[in-house]
Amino acid sequence: MNERQAEDSSVLRMLPSIDELLNTVAAARVEGESGVKRLTLLAREVVDSMRAELRGSFANGRREYSREVLLSELEQRLADAWRAERRARLQRVINATGVIVHTNLGRSPLSANAARALAETASGYCTLEFDIESGRRGRRGRYAEQRLAELTGAEAAVIVNNCAAAAFLVLTVFASGREVIVSRGELVEIGGDFRVPDVLSQSGAIMREVGTTNKTRLSDYEETISENTAMIVRVHPSNYKIIGFTSTPPLAELAETAHKKGLILFEDAGSGALNSLAEFGLGDEPVIADSIAGGVDIVSFSGDKLLGGSQAGLIVGKRELIERVRKHPLYRALRVDKLSYTVIQSTLESYARGRASEEVPVIRMITMPADELSVRAADLLGKIANKNLSAELFLGNSVIGGGAAPSVRLETTLIALTHKNASADELGQMLRSADPPVIARIEDDKVLIDLRTVSSEEEGELLGVLVKIG
Ligand SMILES: *Cc1c(COP(=O)(O)O)cnc(C)c1O
Repeated sequence: MNERQAEDSSVLRMLPSIDELLNTVAAARVEGESGVKRLTLLAREVVDSMRAELRGSFANGRREYSREVLLSELEQRLADAWRAERRARLQRVINATGVIVHTNLGRSPLSANAARALAETASGYCTLEFDIESGRRGRRGRYAEQRLAELTGAEAAVIVNNCAAAAFLVLTVFASGREVIVSRGELVEIGGDFRVPDVLSQSGAIMREVGTTNKTRLSDYEETISENTAMIVRVHPSNYKIIGFTSTPPLAELAETAHKKGLILFEDAGSGALNSLAEFGLGDEPVIADSIAGGVDIVSFSGDKLLGGSQAGLIVGKRELIERVRKHPLYRALRVDKLSYTVIQSTLESYARGRASEEVPVIRMITMPADELSVRAADLLGKIANKNLSAELFLGNSVIGGGAAPSVRLETTLIALTHKNASADELGQMLRSADPPVIARIEDDKVLIDLRTVSSEEEGELLGVLVKIG
C-alpha cells in the first residue's frame, strides 16, 4: 500500500456505514413516508455516491473530514434524495400555460361537484351495480349513460375507457373482417399514438380509402361501397386542419348514402362538444347532438377534452347498436370503473342544469372574457412584491389544446416575468420546484403566465410562489 492509498483508506474508514445512516433521525423521518425497503436502497445509493466522491476529492488533496461531518452530510443527502423522489409522484400543479386541455398536465380539471362526488364515492361503498329501488343488481353506468343520451339526443349511450377504446370497440363490433370506407383527408394521427389507419387495422376492419387529402366527394364513397362494406367512418381531424380548397360531403348526405345501402355511419368526433362553442371560435368542433340529428348512427368522443370530465370514451347512438357494443366481450375489457362514472355523471349534470360555463372548468376557461383576464393580470401584477422579479403585461393568446381546434387563439393578457439574476429557463425551473409547482410558458427568454388556466383559488397560491422566488 503506498502513502496515497493508505490515506485514502483512512478517510474511507471514516465514512459512516449504511446501518449508521439508517439509525439517524433523518432516516426515521424518511422511513415514515418511504417504508423501510425504499429507505435502505436510498441510504445505500447515498453512501455509495459519497464513497466515490471521497475517493475523487482525496485525489485532489482535500483532507478535512470528520465522522460527524460526513454523517450529517449523509443525512442531508438522504432527505434531499427522498424529496427529489417524491417530486416524481403524480401531483397537482398550477397550469399557468394558458393551454386549456393540456394533455401533459392531465387534460381537464374536474368541476368542484365532480371532485366532491369523487371523494364521496371513493371513500365508501356505492351503487355501481346495484338498483337502490329494488335492492337487486343494477346495470353499471345506467344513470350516467341515460344523462348522456338525453344531452346528445341519442337513443342510448355506453361509456368505455377512452375515445381510442371507443373507436376500436365500435370498429371491432361492426366491421371486423369487413370493409370500412374512410376519406384520405381523415387518416390522421392524433396526439402521437392514435393513428386512424392503425386503429382500423387492429380492429380487423379492412380499410378502403377514398378521395384525396383535401377533397372527398359523396360519389367517392358511393363508388366504393360493395357487398362487403359494413360501415362508413367519419373522423374529426382534431389537431390537423386543412384550409383552402377543401370539401367533404355534409354528414346528412353521407348518412343518407349509408342508410340507402344498409350501412352504419360512425363518427369519431374526438373532443366533441355538448353545446356549440362556435361563438368562441370553436365552430369546427362537432356538436354531438348535431351529429345525431344529422343521421350519424354511432358517435364516439372523449370524456376529458371539451366535455371537461375524466378520461373516458363516450359512445352514443341507435339503441340496437349500443346494445350490441355492450354485449361484445371486448366491452368487458374496456369498461370504466365507479370513479369514472361518478365524474362523468356529475359533469353531465352541470350541462343538464345549463350551468356548464360556470361549473365545468374547461368550459369556464374557454368562455372567460378577455377583459376579465386583463383585470386579473393587472391585479396580480400589482401584488408581485419581489425585488428579483420584474413583470409586465402583454396581449397574447391562450389555446385550447388536447387536439381540439388547433387554429383557435383566445385573446388573453400575459404576465411576462424576468429574473434579475436568472435566465428564463432557470426561472421556469424555480417555478416548477415551488410548492405547489407552477408550470409556465417560456418564450423569447421570458416566462409567461396566462391566468386563463389558473383558477381563482390557485391565484393566491401563485402569488405566494412568485413573492417567495429567491
Ligand atoms: C383525441 C382523439 C382520440 C383519442 O381520444 P382519447 O380519449 O385520448 O383516447 C380519438 N379520436 C379523435 C378524433 C380524437 O381527437
